[in-house]
Amino acid sequence: MIKVVKFGGSSVADAIQLAKVKAIIDEDPARRYVVVSAPGKRFSADNKITDLLYLCKAHMDHNIGYSQVLQVIGDRYKAIELNLGVNVNMDAELQKIDEDLRNGASSDYMASRGEYLMAKLTAAYLGYDFIDTAGLVVFDKKGRFLDEETNENLKNALDGHERAVLPGFYGSLPDGKIKTFSRGGSDITGSLVARAVGADMYENWTDVSGFLMADPRIVESPKPIEKVTYMELRELSYMGASVLHEDAVFPVRENNIPINIRNTNEPENPGTVIMADVPDESGDIITGIAGRKDFVSFGIFKNMMSSEVGFIRRVLSIFESYDVPIEHIPSGVDTISIVVPLDKVEDHIQDIIEEIERKLRVHVVLQEGIAVIATVGRGMSSRPGVSGKLFNALAEANINIKMIDQGSSEMNIIVGVDNDDFADAIRAIYNAFVTNEN
Ligand code: ADP
Ligand code: ASP
Ligand code: MG
Repeated sequence: MIKVVKFGGSSVADAIQLAKVKAIIDEDPARRYVVVSAPGKRFSADNKITDLLYLCKAHMDHNIGYSQVLQVIGDRYKAIELNLGVNVNMDAELQKIDEDLRNGASSDYMASRGEYLMAKLTAAYLGYDFIDTAGLVVFDKKGRFLDEETNENLKNALDGHERAVLPGFYGSLPDGKIKTFSRGGSDITGSLVARAVGADMYENWTDVSGFLMADPRIVESPKPIEKVTYMELRELSYMGASVLHEDAVFPVRENNIPINIRNTNEPENPGTVIMADVPDESGDIITGIAGRKDFVSFGIFKNMMSSEVGFIRRVLSIFESYDVPIEHIPSGVDTISIVVPLDKVEDHIQDIIEEIERKLRVHVVLQEGIAVIATVGRGMSSRPGVSGKLFNALAEANINIKMIDQGSSEMNIIVGVDNDDFADAIRAIYNAFVTNEN
């Protein structure tokens, strides 16, 4: 039995948290491969080490002194080293980072040092081998992740190690330079390691006792999700449930390795298990609700649009030429809307509108400030009346629906509402399907 365990930022925030980590690992000898994040917040006003590392680099780039920020980072690591009673030559490590920064180290390199130093400390504390992920987790020269090569590298490197700690979040480019995943990417590293060693379980230890049916910062004490399919989880995390990085599902799903989300501060709680198939015993219609703010919708109207061959392709190709990924395309007979995240079009909104209007001879109506909310559940597909209930709940809460889209899997219903209605809409849906059902 092999378990790969990933500990997130709050689980390694200080020596007290690391003592909990050690207790968890000591409790089960199957927990052989450990992936760590950089230290996160110890309390809500605290800083995440990763943010501070980016800040150092930003200061450097703007010719503002960075030494105070680096000092804060160094102090946190040195305190952990001291309190754990280990010696990893932290002073020398910190000095090297300072030098590298002065010699033009990249922002990715700086950010990666958070997990690098944490993995060094954790390995020393647990008595495990330290294995760097640079050179193992690899990207091509354009920065695209190389899946198969990474898998081979990790397999070979871990083969000779009974127990090891690896830093999450980063790997390297062909020239050896460091490249990170997007934020929260240590979850992906954990998943890659789990696949490479053929783990029986990928445990993802964080600060909540599993996946909850809604973001706990929006809904008060949401119901925990005991079991969820990879597919549902991917929808939820992509749509904004930030517990697990949305791309962390792929590597383990290939080999059917279950993911178990657990709470470092409440290790006796079984948390959430994510797997391919979940026996339907809960009777719940929906599994969870998640969403994100700040989308824009380009509404396009044209008589007889649906009989015009190639129309949609021509619209989409305009977005493609601006490198804009499209999230949703709700459509009617004579209308189609293209919904995209604001930050992906910000600089080109007027250009895109003009180009669509000119090339397709249509009128475009722009709506900004849209929040997109997905209500996800494998139990929805065969059940009539689910969308009616959802729309009703929003109507009763006086929330105007700006867009509706249903995934082809019939496993989710997506609605767009005003940014200002975001939290109220999630609460209304939650109450309709969860609170009032029980
Ligand atoms: P880590 O640093 O361990 O990777 P994250 O901060 O990335 O942890 O993820 C855990 C956080 O995700 C929780 O503290 C919680 O605030 C947030 N969260 C958002 N949506 C959900 C949800 N549906 N269920 C549980 N937690 C959620
Ligand atoms: N430390 C990185 C971040 O804050 C990666 C991670 O925690 O997963 O995004
Ligand atoms: Mg995370």
